[in-house]
Amino acid sequence: MGFVFCGGGPAALGPVIAAARKGRLDDLLDRGIALVEPGPIGPGGLAHYRISANSLGGPFLECLDGLSDSAPFAALRDLPETRRLRAHSDEHPPLSVVAPFLTRLGAVVSDLLAAHPRCTVVPEAVAAIELADDGVVVTTGSGRELTAERTVIATGGRPLSGFGTAGIVPGLDLLPHRDKVWHSESFIDARKPLPPVRGKAVVVGGSHSAWSVVHLLAPEADEITVIHRSGLRLFYNSPDEARADGYPFDPVLDVCPTNGRVNRYGGLRGRAHELARAALRLPGTGPAPARLVQVTDPAALEAAQRALAEADVIVMANGFEANLPPIHRTDGTPVSAAVGPTGTVVTAQGHLVDVHGTAHPRLLAYGLGAGLAPSAEVGGEPSYTRRADGVWLYQHDIGGIVLDELLHNVTTTGEIHA
Ligand SMILES: Cc1cc2nc3c(=O)[nH]c(=O)nc-3n(C[C@H](O)[C@H](O)[C@H](O)COP(=O)(O)OP(=O)(O)OC[C@H]3O[C@@H](n4cnc5c(N)ncnc54)[C@H](O)[C@@H]3O)c2cc1C
Repeated sequence: MGFVFCGGGPAALGPVIAAARKGRLDDLLDRGIALVEPGPIGPGGLAHYRISANSLGGPFLECLDGLSDSAPFAALRDLPETRRLRAHSDEHPPLSVVAPFLTRLGAVVSDLLAAHPRCTVVPEAVAAIELADDGVVVTTGSGRELTAERTVIATGGRPLSGFGTAGIVPGLDLLPHRDKVWHSESFIDARKPLPPVRGKAVVVGGSHSAWSVVHLLAPEADEITVIHRSGLRLFYNSPDEARADGYPFDPVLDVCPTNGRVNRYGGLRGRAHELARAALRLPGTGPAPARLVQVTDPAALEAAQRALAEADVIVMANGFEANLPPIHRTDGTPVSAAVGPTGTVVTAQGHLVDVHGTAHPRLLAYGLGAGLAPSAEVGGEPSYTRRADGVWLYQHDIGGIVLDELLHNVTTTGEIHA
């Protein structure tokens, strides 16, 4: 077996879709893949989020562009789920419209694997991963052992550990307020019980998740304050569009050199963009949905401290780390992944980095909580310091990087050879 894919969400499907688009599907499948996923293949967590997409509907469908009519994914073009999503091509669709399309996409991948003599789909959870010098052994919940050259770990994310007591800036942290702190996931993910909301709410962070929570809290909360450290980043198609909107940006650091977009990765889009525009009181916006406190000076620090002290509920939107299964070496020593402020650390090729700083080419990890740092290959604005994430990237640039990795050889010493 060439590879075990742990998880079957949008990230795991990326290299398969990238392979189909590059005419390398047979190369990939002929190496042998076992895809281990206990739930539906395709939509992952996006099937459960109560919010709209941060991308337009069109980019979700670009994976079907340019394929020959006989390509396996081409048959998806005229399905009802695809047509429904296509109706939202130029707007931000509810994720409940995106998920059925991704489920159809997943079904094609599942059928491809099931039909290939060297591939299989295992409808179970991964319980553990053993890292040996010459490969990996993935053990499933039922005790089945799958031996492979490498494993792709795309099992989604979980809230960054310690989020409930995290420091925001020096002099401002959540520790004294930990009993009323929730992670943004608790409000967005329908699999989690919805926390009670009343009175004054504070949201910490300036991301898509943070503004999605503002939207979800608005009907219940009496007052919402958003505490953020750096200036709010809004996405625009071009510098001219940003200027026309009165949005201040850095013409070099905030503009993607690859496609000229302003805040291509870090910028808020869709509803989050509109809410943040209103909070910033940009021209033509309605009432501000939240009070903004950007913690840049002592007065703002004091205002933020007061808001936290008076809040009935605090929502931390500081992101995710990878939800990795336990990983150990053959002698039982655990392999503990390094986690930084933006999630689990992986190299630009997706090699998992452990707490000692060693990168493991046999353990490829990416997806929610373990995005690749932007590089020349994936572009992005130079000021963006977080991780590159999103379904389009998994299916195109990041999927291509992981595909190239998989189609390389790994020696017993873990070095990669073309
Ligand atoms: C609130 C929010 C909104 C987002 N909105 C968008 C958006 O609009 N557009 C966009 O492009 N991106 C969006 N993203 C970013 C990203 O595309 C999604 O998070 C996406 O779901 C990540 O895919 P994934 O495969 O990494 O993880 P997931 O979607 O979480 O999928 C992980 C899969 O692994 C499986 N799994 C988990 N544990 C195991 C195990 N032990 N063994 C085997 N399988 C396991 C799960 O069942 C699941 O199917 C959003 C992220 C968040 C947090």
